[in-house]
Amino acid sequence: MTCKKNHDNSDNIVRDLPIGQEGIGRHKCASCAYEIGYQHGLQKAENINLGDILNNLGESQKGDRRHRSPHAAYSLGYFNGVVDSY
Ligand SMILES: [Zn+2]
Repeated sequence: MTCKKNHDNSDNIVRDLPIGQEGIGRHKCASCAYEIGYQHGLQKAENINLGDILNNLGESQKGDRRHRSPHAAYSLGYFNGVVDSY
């Protein structure tokens, strides 16, 4: 399953994240992880299973988001979502 979403906005944020290919997040789409994290941050979601979230992401080798850590992407998205919710 390859991610084919348009991530023009998220890619600009995700490209500054560290490279990371640990565990279940390997090759997963960091921009999807960012956007899901952002939505969870807006909602201040508290029951999160990050393993499930990462496992369900599409894969991406594309451009600026290639190999970016989906863990970092999710957590930055969550943070920005919380900030933007106020
Ligand atoms: Zn994606």
